[in-house]
Amino acid sequence: MKAQRIYGTGDMRAEELPAQPVGENCVKIKILKTAVTHSDNLIYEGKRAVKFPLTLGRHCVGMVTEVGESVKNFSRGNKVAVSPIKACRKCSECAAGRFDSCLNKLEYGISEDGFFRDFAVVGAEDLYRLPERIEDSEAMFLEQIATAINIVGKLGLEKGEHIAIVGATVTGIILAQVAIYYQAVPILMDLRRDRLDVASNFGVYYTVDTTESDAYKKIFSLTGGRMAETCVYMAQGIMPLTRTFDFLSNRGRMAICTDGGKELSADLSAAVSKQLDIFGISGMGKNIPSAINMLANKSVKVAPLISKEVKLDEVPAALEEMSQHPDKYVKVIVNMNS
Ligand SMILES: [Zn+2]
Repeated sequence: MKAQRIYGTGDMRAEELPAQPVGENCVKIKILKTAVTHSDNLIYEGKRAVKFPLTLGRHCVGMVTEVGESVKNFSRGNKVAVSPIKACRKCSECAAGRFDSCLNKLEYGISEDGFFRDFAVVGAEDLYRLPERIEDSEAMFLEQIATAINIVGKLGLEKGEHIAIVGATVTGIILAQVAIYYQAVPILMDLRRDRLDVASNFGVYYTVDTTESDAYKKIFSLTGGRMAETCVYMAQGIMPLTRTFDFLSNRGRMAICTDGGKELSADLSAAVSKQLDIFGISGMGKNIPSAINMLANKSVKVAPLISKEVKLDEVPAALEEMSQHPDKYVKVIVNMNS
């Protein structure tokens, strides 16, 4: 088995690993595509602590090549996506079906070997069948689409409501599309003009370049002075959290969905006086099947978010390039067949 493994900050090596045995409830897959994700960048740059050595790569699409003797619902040749989270299926969160919030969860590419390798053995319960009409590269966005669906659900976003999205991250751009699908009105803001242009091309018609315009004034004007019913705080670098409470109407709903990397603080006085509902959201909920559905129906478009495709042995160079130029690439796909 060929793999790219990380041994320390900036130290990634090609390695030949022994084949893994296929347990009775497991499936062996030949990995077709994987992607470089934010957590891979953080680990490579030494900004996220993990146990080395580790195979990075949080997402993958694969072809089933072997199934364990107790596996009934998959067979050789099935195309599948793997959940980025390996849940214990025993704790109270798992018992309630909230596998992404499992108290003992392992995450591929972070606390469990990920997918920068040619073959992987994974639990059958973590697999999702992919319809033919979804391209392998598109499936690299399932986690972000599922997270966006989770946010919309938690906020109870309704038709015609405004949703101010602070941060044109990949999830932020996808969330704007999901909001449009739900007939809500996204207002997407960022200081990266190129990211806003990508969103505009997806049909997100209200964007705010915060280096040029005042987001408060724009939302005031778009909502006739009523301000937004909902707001989602995705990225800390755009503006302080405290300022975003001004974007909301009284009894507005706010979701905070940053990756938890940096300390997050705010003056909550405006949140109290406006009687805001504030939700912390860090996962996908049970939304991977819905995300597959949205991709299959072309309700969400992701292809323009792909910056480039590399081979497995080019992954270390890609990670180095991304650490030197963090805003140059949106999503880098790894094609295992090239
Ligand atoms: Zn669990």
